[in-house]
Amino acid sequence: MKTIHLKIVTPDSILLDKEVESVSIPTVEGEITVLPMHIPILAGMKPGELRIKADKKEEYFSVMRGVAEVDGETITILTDAAEHADDIDEERADAAAKAAKELMAKKRSSEEGYTEAMAELERSLSRIKIIRKRRRGSKVRIDSN
Ligand code: ATP
Repeated sequence: MKTIHLKIVTPDSILLDKEVESVSIPTVEGEITVLPMHIPILAGMKPGELRIKADKKEEYFSVMRGVAEVDGETITILTDAAEHADDIDEERADAAAKAAKELMAKKRSSEEGYTEAMAELERSLSRIKIIRKRRRGSKVRIDSN
């Protein structure tokens, strides 16, 4: 099976660096799926779920704002923060969402503060959505066995 090289890079680390069969990316214009030999693109990314297929298995990641660049043999994802869906800490995401909502209420008179708090809320809600969706998915699999 043909593959394409995927790199997920955050300010903290290179989270992933491996050959994959396909990648579905949450871009600002909607989800795109990139297969080997894809034409070069540069797309803005929004917080959401990034799905990869590798070794005939699917894996899921949470990504934040950033850019996705496809150039011939490599897909590079540059993002503020990313983690494997299994590594999302739901309690931390819930606490961050709650704190962001409280901060939004407090910062209503400061455009900058309000926008920052809203971005934080967006990040945590994106993580929460992914973890809940994955949990539902595994339940369906267990039930159908
Ligand atoms: P918090 O508000 O909980 O401190 P944050 O939203 O400020 O988190 P980020 O700046 O988005 O955190 O990310 C910083 C680092 O922490 C990244 O490595 C990110 O992957 C990780 N991280 C943040 N929130 C979570 C979470 N809920 N589950 C797992 N990892 C997380």
